[in-house]
Amino acid sequence: MYLADYHTHSTCSDDGHNTMTEMAAAALSAGLHEICLTDHLDVVTWLGDQVREHSWRAAVEQFAAARAALGSRIKIQLGVELGQATEDVSRANRFLDDAPPLDFIIASLHNLSWEYGRRDFCTVEEADEVFARRAIGEYLDEMLALARWGRFSVLGHLTLPLRYFNENLGMHMTFKGFEEQVAEIFKCIIPAGRGIELNTNRGHTPLPDEPILRLYRDLGGEIITLGSDAHTPEYVGCAITDRQALLRACGFDYFATFDRLVPVYHKL
Ligand SMILES: [Zn+2]
Ligand SMILES: [Zn+2]
Repeated sequence: MYLADYHTHSTCSDDGHNTMTEMAAAALSAGLHEICLTDHLDVVTWLGDQVREHSWRAAVEQFAAARAALGSRIKIQLGVELGQATEDVSRANRFLDDAPPLDFIIASLHNLSWEYGRRDFCTVEEADEVFARRAIGEYLDEMLALARWGRFSVLGHLTLPLRYFNENLGMHMTFKGFEEQVAEIFKCIIPAGRGIELNTNRGHTPLPDEPILRLYRDLGGEIITLGSDAHTPEYVGCAITDRQALLRACGFDYFATFDRLVPVYHKL
């Protein structure tokens, strides 16, 4: 079975800890055939501040170093995790226009709405179900706007708020009741040739999990990548094989990797 981790972070992300070469070495020792580095590039920071400038220089240098060191032994691709693009589309477009040739673009949302200060979901400290459901609804409205924008390969960790409400705050939130909003997003991206990722969430509950994966498949969704969201070497490749089995169980026959933004399909 072909094994690829399509969501990893290096020191080119503010919350990364290891170089691209170290992350690629971890992928090689985990038995992967391919790794894509998808460092954060945000239009809005986790505190809700606007990001004015971005330099690709460190990513370009680290990527060249990783390929020079290990490129003959493992396929290494350059991607990006673009955060909050619809907050300022012209800035997001500029960031991408200035980019080196990218293989893959994850479009993500990490922040609450402006009503809650535009802070990252990871900063929420109250386990309040009414608030959580409202925040999820607003998150999905923004996700639909992102889907309509369309300058990405996949939508990242579609059920991300659950990571924080459930794993951090011990709640038991689901996306039950939000299926129509999610379906609208899928009906936008599927005909446009865009996909979603199955974020293995470093071995925790996959984002999204089975009901949403089945909905995507039922609506004709075929483009799906697998990524660990590793920020350190020990999580590179985490739960990829298990989640390939989950995709098979949900009716998928293929998963995708990307070359210069074009999907490449691999049998599951
Ligand atoms: Zn993310
Ligand atoms: Zn990430």
